[in-house]
Formats: sequence, C-alpha cells, structure tokens
Amino acid sequence: MTTSADLLVIGAGPFGLSLAAHARALGLSTIVLGKPMGFWKENMPRGMYLRSGCDWHLDADGRHTIEAFLATRGQAPADVEPLSRDFYLDYADWFMRQAGIEPRPGMVRALERTPGGFIATLDNMSLIEARNVAVAVGFGNFANLPVELARMLPPSRWSHTGYPGDLARFKDKRVMIVGGRQSAFEWAAILADEGAAQVHVSHRHDSPAFEASDWSWVNPLVDGMVDDPGWFRGLAKEEQDGLVRRLWIEGRSKVEPWLESRVMRPGVSLWPRTNLVSSTETADGLAVTLDNGTTLYVDHVILATGYRVRMARVPFLADLQGELDVADGFPVLDEQFQTSVPGLFITSMPATRDFGPFFAFTVSVRTSARLIVRAIASR
Ligand SMILES: Cc1cc2nc3c(=O)[nH]c(=O)nc-3n(C[C@H](O)[C@H](O)[C@H](O)COP(=O)(O)OP(=O)(O)OC[C@H]3O[C@@H](n4cnc5c(N)ncnc54)[C@H](O)[C@@H]3O)c2cc1C
Repeated sequence: MTTSADLLVIGAGPFGLSLAAHARALGLSTIVLGKPMGFWKENMPRGMYLRSGCDWHLDADGRHTIEAFLATRGQAPADVEPLSRDFYLDYADWFMRQAGIEPRPGMVRALERTPGGFIATLDNMSLIEARNVAVAVGFGNFANLPVELARMLPPSRWSHTGYPGDLARFKDKRVMIVGGRQSAFEWAAILADEGAAQVHVSHRHDSPAFEASDWSWVNPLVDGMVDDPGWFRGLAKEEQDGLVRRLWIEGRSKVEPWLESRVMRPGVSLWPRTNLVSSTETADGLAVTLDNGTTLYVDHVILATGYRVRMARVPFLADLQGELDVADGFPVLDEQFQTSVPGLFITSMPATRDFGPFFAFTVSVRTSARLIVRAIASR
C-alpha cells in the first residue's frame, strides 16, 4: 500500500510531535511514523523525573501547553514539578489528542529519493511517498559505549542506561554505575529504591553538586532563533564555547537537589575521581578494580556514558549517506534544518552542531517546528 503527503515526519517523540502538530495546524498534509514517545517509554527508566519544567511544552502555536493540560486537571505547576516521566507521557498523550495527531506505528526501514521527493519503506513493507521528510529520531541510535570499557567488561555483565528493561531485576544485586551526571545519579536513586544490595557510582571527575539548575536563560535564546535562525552558527567560536560551557555547568556539574536524600544513603557509594582499570570474573561475581586500588565485587555494570551523534548509525539513511554532508558525525544543516539532500530535514540532537546544544532538549521543539514548517511551506 502506498500513501503520500507533503511531509513525512520520522519519529514520534517531542520533536516529531511538535513538528507534526504545527504542520497540520498550517494545513500541510502530514504523516508521522514511530512509536508515540517510544524513547521515553522504552529507553528511560521508570520512576525518572525530568529536569525541565512546565514551560518546555510541545505546542509551537501556544495552545496545548503543559499549563493548559494542568488546567484541565485543576492543577498548577507547583503541584506537579519536578515532573515525573509518567506525567510528561500523559501530557504528550493529551497533546496528540488535542492536536489531532495519530502517529502510525510503523518503523522506517529505508528512505530513498524519487523525482517528486522521497519514498519510505516501512518494516511491514508498506510504502509512503512524501515531498519532504523530517527526521526526528532523537538519541536512540547514538548510545555512547566507550571502547575501552566495552573491551574490559564481559558482554553479559554490562548494559547502557539507554536500555533499562525491568529494573526489578536488580533487586538484591550489586551494581556499579559508570558516570557522574544526572543520569548516573538518577539510576543510583532508582536502583536503591528497587532494593539493589549495593550501588557504586564511579566517575572520573569530582561528584557534582546537588543544586537546582537554572535553565530560564535558555528559553529566550531558543525562542529568538525563530527570527534569527543563524544566530548560534554566526557566533564567534569563543562565544559558542561559552554557551556550551554555561549549559554544561547547569546540566552536568549539578544534579537535581531532589536526588540527594535518595542517593546519599546507606547502600550507595560514590567513587569520584576514579576510572575502571580491569575486571575479572570470580566466584563472588565480577571483580572490578578502580585506579585508586579499590576492588569491588559486583553483579552488573551500567554505563551512564551518554550519547554521541553519528549519522552513519541511522539505519534507514543508508541509501542517502553518499549525498548527505556530514561533519564530525553531525548532518550539515542550513538555517532551516535542511540537509544537503533537498527536502530532507533533520532536527533534535543531530542539529546541535549548527543550532547549539539546546537542541538536545525539549526547549527547542517549538523553534524547530516553526522553522521547518516555514521552510516546507515555502518550497
Ligand atoms: C535520561 C534522559 C533524561 C532526559 N531528560 C530530559 C528532560 O528532563 N528535559 C528535556 O527537555 N529533555 C530531556 N532529555 C532529552 C530528551 O530526551 C530529548 O530532547 C528528546 O527525547 C528528543 O526527542 P525526539 O523527538 O528527537 O526523539 P525521541 O524522544 O528520542 O523519540 C524518537 C522517536 O523516533 C522514533 N523512531 C526511531 N527510529 C525510527 C524509525 N526507523 N522509523 C520511525 N520512527 C523511528 C521512535 O519510535 C520515537 O518515536 C533527556 C534525555 C535522557 C537520555
């Protein structure tokens, strides 16, 4: 079966949903593919809380905001912040209903160019034709697995935070988490809640402070890009680095204060300024040695080592890789998120090289939606 549209949005996470809603509101025939909020449901741990608040909503047209959702429940932001993952998923469901978006569950297996645009082949072998395609597949393909750790650890003994599965399996287990940012600390808290016998958190740097982050300065910068989309790329390198550093200080040198009592408790040990140097299978589990000389016996190692964009890892773009300009693994984008393949747009984390580090967060979904829809409407 073949269907066609002005715009095919690949990905039904925050970026894809926001884009599809705005495109639909402006009258573009739009198809959205992907599992609705699939990454948040499957690749983030149950029991997680967001760092962002109610102001980072999905509606580029400003109607179906988180605050509007709260109003339907007789609640205010203070009643729900910090937002739980489950609350955010409920909001996204409500947003889809209000905006009239129904993502099709199929996953794209291949994307090819045609004289009129593109044709996508889905995993059930159905076909979708579209004049324009916007790729919003987020982080899922980009888990960062440091080679030295993957080589050091037996394959059955480690996993990445991006693949949580059922965390109840860690009850009574001894777990080592490698990483020292919000995700590592969040996992430590959740595993302790799940009844893990021991949780060790090893990181190369000092442990971050339990301190509230201030993201309020980000909103006007990102909103301003609707009228000045070249702003970030036009900055001098030192200015760009300064913004990256400022976001880094908020995002990475602090972890949220509501984690403190859940992490700083018996059974959870922090190992700042340490690296794993070896691991050996023993009768008492995996013996993991740190470079401070400590050996710990654990059942499992979790790598909270983040994500790194490499477009070559997006399987359905294989046929277009030859035409897709890439720099340092990122797609080269024009000021409207368009790639070197005309009509092919890429947003979300892969856009951070050209649009700034904010595009790894949902604060940017509305600016991204408005710029892409404007570009498509004018093509
Ligand atoms: C642990 C963690 C915590 C975070 N906390 C926050 C936070 O508090 N606030 C915040 O703003 N951001 C947070 N982020 C960042 C946030 O997750 C991303 O900004 C956001 O999810 C990116 O959205 P997206 O729409 O690009 O894709 P995602 O949310 O990653 O969703 C990807 C979508 O693409 C679909 N897809 C993938 N492959 C295909 C295919 N082949 N065919 C069709 N569809 C496909 C999936 O099914 C899914 O619908 C966090 C990230 C992590 C890892």
